[in-house]
Amino acid sequence: MAKESVVIDQDACISCGACVAVCPGQALELDENGKARLIWDKCTSDFECVKVCPVNCIWQSSQAPESAKSKAGWYRLSGPLSGDLKKEFEEWKSQYGIKWSPI
Ligand code: SF4
Ligand code: SF4
Repeated sequence: MAKESVVIDQDACISCGACVAVCPGQALELDENGKARLIWDKCTSDFECVKVCPVNCIWQSSQAPESAKSKAGWYRLSGPLSGDLKKEFEEWKSQYGIKWSPI
């Protein structure tokens, strides 16, 4: 089973940075528009970010609304994925119905 990771709705994000500050794996950043963005392969699925978001726009992937999963730009990869990690990435998208992909 793929790691669960999170889904972010950047349209609801108010750029507070709380999720970035609390993430233990540097798996979140503010993008060029100041919106939270996930770096998928760095996420360890501990869901600390979910707890601190003041507008509740980060969810565990299994609990994210379809509307958020269909949006573009809310995550990226730190670099090319290979082997097991690439397989895990494809499984995550498939298992949680992630409609958009940066690659
Ligand atoms: S689930 Fe944890 S590791 Fe993943 S983005 Fe949120 S705080 Fe970071
Ligand atoms: S905690 Fe929520 S509102 Fe704040 S930057 Fe992260 S996603 Fe955006």
